Amino acid sequence: MSSPSLLRPAVLIVSDTAAADPTTDRAAPTLKETFAQDGGGKWDEPLVEIVKDDVLEIQRAVRSWTDESESSTSGLVNLVVTTGGTGFARRDFTPEAIAPLIHRHAPGVVHGMLAASFQVTPFAMMSRPVAGVRNKTVIVTLPGSPKGAKENLQAILKLLPHACLQAAGENSRNAHSGGVEKLEKDAGMGVGVSGSSTTVTSHSHSHHHGHGHGHGHGGGGHGGGHKIPKAHTDPSQRPPQSNDMLLGATARARSSPYPMLSVSDAVAKIIQNSPAPIKGLRDVSPDLTGYVVAEDIRAVEAVPAYSASIVDGYAVIVPDPKSAPEDAPSSTTKGVFPVASVSHAQASSMPPPLEPGQIARITTGAPVPANANAVVMVEDTIIASLTGDKKEEATVEILTDAVTVGENIRDPGSDIKLGEVVVTKGTRISSLGGEIGVLAAAGIRQVPVYRKPRVGVMSTGDEVTDVTVEQPLKGGMIRDSNRPSLLTLLRGWNMCEEVVDLGVARDTPHHELEQKIRDAFRSGGVDMVITTGGVSMGELDLLKPTVERSLGGEVHFGRVSMKPGKPTTFASVPFKEGGTGERERRLIFGLPGNPASALVTANLFVLPCIQRMVGMSGKGLERITVKIQGRVRCDPARTEYHRVVVGVEESTGKVVAKSTGMQRSSRVGSLAEANALLVLPQREGWIEDGGECEALMMGMIHGF
Ligand code: AMP
Ligand code: MG
Repeated sequence: MSSPSLLRPAVLIVSDTAAADPTTDRAAPTLKETFAQDGGGKWDEPLVEIVKDDVLEIQRAVRSWTDESESSTSGLVNLVVTTGGTGFARRDFTPEAIAPLIHRHAPGVVHGMLAASFQVTPFAMMSRPVAGVRNKTVIVTLPGSPKGAKENLQAILKLLPHACLQAAGENSRNAHSGGVEKLEKDAGMGVGVSGSSTTVTSHSHSHHHGHGHGHGHGGGGHGGGHKIPKAHTDPSQRPPQSNDMLLGATARARSSPYPMLSVSDAVAKIIQNSPAPIKGLRDVSPDLTGYVVAEDIRAVEAVPAYSASIVDGYAVIVPDPKSAPEDAPSSTTKGVFPVASVSHAQASSMPPPLEPGQIARITTGAPVPANANAVVMVEDTIIASLTGDKKEEATVEILTDAVTVGENIRDPGSDIKLGEVVVTKGTRISSLGGEIGVLAAAGIRQVPVYRKPRVGVMSTGDEVTDVTVEQPLKGGMIRDSNRPSLLTLLRGWNMCEEVVDLGVARDTPHHELEQKIRDAFRSGGVDMVITTGGVSMGELDLLKPTVERSLGGEVHFGRVSMKPGKPTTFASVPFKEGGTGERERRLIFGLPGNPASALVTANLFVLPCIQRMVGMSGKGLERITVKIQGRVRCDPARTEYHRVVVGVEESTGKVVAKSTGMQRSSRVGSLAEANALLVLPQREGWIEDGGECEALMMGMIHGF
């Protein structure tokens, strides 16, 4: 629970836009920072809620903080500040919503804010603030722009603790101890409230337009022992929605504040946030498998490099009908010819040129002697006479006269021309050998490819026990199946330079997860950390809070409409590269802990991301249509990814999909043998035996 000595503020963001997409909100982080930095250590971390520009919604939210009877689990607060909806636009009715709630009005506070704002901009006139007390809570409406909201809050912040304590019913003598002079001194003021404008930044800027810029906030530790987690980014750039780990189980949200994304929207966010592929040169070798070629690759050598024989036989000079006079006797190769030389497919030298009337023995692939223009297959010849030592043929009879110019000869460059593109940009070097083969044939020793990422895999949870631990399981212990399973999956994709086993992060102590992720990025040098577990709604589900509150990162999504895999989380954290000092972002996938969920979501979300990083389009698993053997039930609430074996039915030779059985997300067995995920549409009922369904192929089709 929060410290009793700190005042509890709440921030209500009133904005249609922010309500639709909380990630667009910049006001909450800015105000949180203002409380932390300018609040003199008197304020707890504010509660935050976002509502539409809607009178009833605004009132409901405020009353949940101010009224004993309405109070939600978050409890009563000392101060409610709203931002937004105080202007003149048609959907600005925050003052109209708040005013009726106020039991005792505080025009002085309104005056103080306006006076401070006028020092900055005449646009202050465009704000219609109200302030006052409801029950024991002070309520103030701030403008919607983060800058305006911050400056207005700064203008009154020093006096608010006093107002809040009085409103909460503290003995006014206590609150006044030291008198008005002390209050003014505490507030850092010369005279009266208007002096508070000294806290307002004096540079000129547009007040009600645009959003807050850099706050020059170094991100290091805040002094004064105030309970603010250390962060490395400007908090105004990120809206933490995760549970505050410092608060207990009862203070945590009871439903996820993260918007539920469709699978395709989630993948789109991943693609958007995946780092661009990086080029590098690599040797042509079997180790090149899995890399994507980053440029068109042109042959540096022609294939063949010389005129080569396609068969074993005899190189001959065929009279060329085109160059022969019209009335010349028809050309023939038939007859007995002396064998002048032998040309083997060997590297060292070219055979001597052929004289008219001679032939040369030649093997497949060997260079054709100069002057020869065809090769007669050995099958079309017989030996006419042998040499003296009887080891070689002296003369050979050619039995056919149908041999034409160029027959059985591969011209230089006829397979691959010098300079021809042999592998196009974007080609992935397969493990089937074709691409490596053509690169080697064309004399290419190194190719520009996109770098493969280094990816770390980590399990989380106090209960998770490595399979190497010999002691029998006790209590709630379970074997860690996710880590070996994911390490295997990632290696199999062959898209990672290295797949690093990051071990298990325990839930307690809380900082172990943070430390392990930091270490993985820093000393482990990984581009991406994949965790499993800790993304559900339990108080020990630490991934989101760790990313947002400890690592200064951004959760891009924290919920996806799918089964299994709903709490899948994708985040990025800022990272400063040691040498260059350049800021980049590193990725975190927080996959659910249940084994089926973990593997399904790795295939659906991690794969497209890594595909992008290695230079592919990132479209994920291939989709095919399959016939289902046996019926399967759809889920009316979510798209379901049902584990199946897609295989060839022996009797028919047709491809069919068979379920791997019970699909509960904790059932590891549903994954064994599965090579595909049926994409069951979100609807009532079944897909019947023999019905068709889309399947995402995780592996190769095999027999049953
Ligand atoms: P959590 O999201 O951490 O609550 O985990 C959800 C479920 O998945 C719990 O039943 C966990 O015990 C289980 N689980 C978490 N991590 C693993 C793991 N590495 N291997 C197998 N099961 C796990
Ligand atoms: Mg857990």
